[in-house]
Amino acid sequence: MALPVVPLRGGGLLADRFGRVATDLRVSLTDRCNLRCTYCMPEEGLAWMPREQQLTDDEVGRLIRVAVDRLGVTNIRFTGGEPLIRRGLVGIVAQAARLLPRPKLSITSNGIGLERMAGPLREAGLDRVNVSLDTLSPARFKELTHRDRHADVLKGLAGAAMAGLTPVKINTVLMRGINDGEAPALLQFALDHGYELRFIEQMPLDAQHQWDRHEMVTAAAILDSLKPFNLMPDVVSRGTAPAETWLVPGYIDAAGQPARVGVIGSVTRPFCGDCDRTRLTADGQVRNCLFATGETDLRALLRNGATDEDIAEAWRAAMWGKKAGHGIDDPSFLQPDRPMSAIGG
Ligand code: SAM
Ligand code: SF4
Repeated sequence: MALPVVPLRGGGLLADRFGRVATDLRVSLTDRCNLRCTYCMPEEGLAWMPREQQLTDDEVGRLIRVAVDRLGVTNIRFTGGEPLIRRGLVGIVAQAARLLPRPKLSITSNGIGLERMAGPLREAGLDRVNVSLDTLSPARFKELTHRDRHADVLKGLAGAAMAGLTPVKINTVLMRGINDGEAPALLQFALDHGYELRFIEQMPLDAQHQWDRHEMVTAAAILDSLKPFNLMPDVVSRGTAPAETWLVPGYIDAAGQPARVGVIGSVTRPFCGDCDRTRLTADGQVRNCLFATGETDLRALLRNGATDEDIAEAWRAAMWGKKAGHGIDDPSFLQPDRPMSAIGG
C-alpha cells in the first residue's frame, strides 16, 4: 500500500550554509544516569538539571511534532543521560510513532532495565536500540562504570533482541590500557549473538575534561586489532551514517545478512561533511553539532506562547549557523561546556 504523501508545513527543511540538511533528530530525555562511565561523568555524578527546566512529556511531544511536520525530520533517536530512566519514555515514543510521515524511532541506552522495557517500547512503536557495552568482564565493567550492573546490560541486550528491536547494535568505546585488548572478544561476542558492534573513538566530551588525544584508541588501531577477522570493505554506501562498516567473512547477522562491524572515527576520520544531525537537549535547547558552543532556546519560545511556525523558524535559524566541521584539531578548539551526558550522545 502506498504511504500517504504528507506535505511539509511552513518554510522548509533544516538546511545549513554548506548544503547539508538535517533529517536525524537526537532527543535527550534526561541528563541523569544510573552509571558513571569514566569517559562521560565523574563517580560522584554531576549537578543535574533542575526538574522545572526539563521539558515535560507534552513539550517534548510538541517539539518532535514540529520537527516532523514542518522541518522534514525522518529519524528520531532518544538518548540522554540514560533515556530508560525517563518516566514518560513509553508515552513519548508512542506519541512520536503516531506522527505522519512516521519517523524511524530508536534509542541509545546503557541497557539497564531494557529487559523489562523492551516489550512495552516495541509495542509503543520503537524500531531499534543501540546498547552501550565496553567490556565482557563484570569486574572491569564495575571499574569503568562504578556500578555492578554488567549482568543487567547483557539481559537488556537479550531482551531487546527478543522483543524485535533489531538489528540490536552495541556501542563500544575503547580506552588504551583498559579495555582496548578486548576488541576481538567483543566482536566475537556480538557475532555469536547476532548483534552489530560499532566502536566509537573517545571524544573530548567528558565532564572532567580529561580527554587526551594521545591516549585515544584510534580507528586505525581498532581496525588493526581486528585483523584476525579478515574484514572486507563493505559495498553498501555509508551515506550520512557516521560508522564506516566492514563485512566479517563467515558470519551472518540475526536477519541472515552478512555480518558487519562499524567504526565511528569521529576524531581521526570525521564525517562532518555528511552530517545530517540536529540535537535537542532535555531542557529544550537546539544544538546544531555535538561540539557546538552555542544553543538556541526553544523551551523559552514554547513557554512564552510561540506558534509552531515560530518554533520551526528558530530551529531553522539554529541549523543555518552550523559550522563546516567540529574543529577538534584547530588550535582554537574549545570543548563545549555541556558534557556528553547533558547533550545526548
Ligand atoms: N546512557 C546511554 C548510553 O550510554 O548508551 C545514552 C547516552 S551516552 C552519552 C551515548 C553514547 O555516547 C554511549 O554509547 C557512550 O558510550 C558514548 N559516549 C559517552 N561519552 C563519550 C565520549 N567522551 N566519547 C565517545 N563516546 C562517548
Ligand atoms: Fe551514563 Fe551513558 Fe554517560 Fe555511561 S555513557 S555515564 S551510561 S550517560
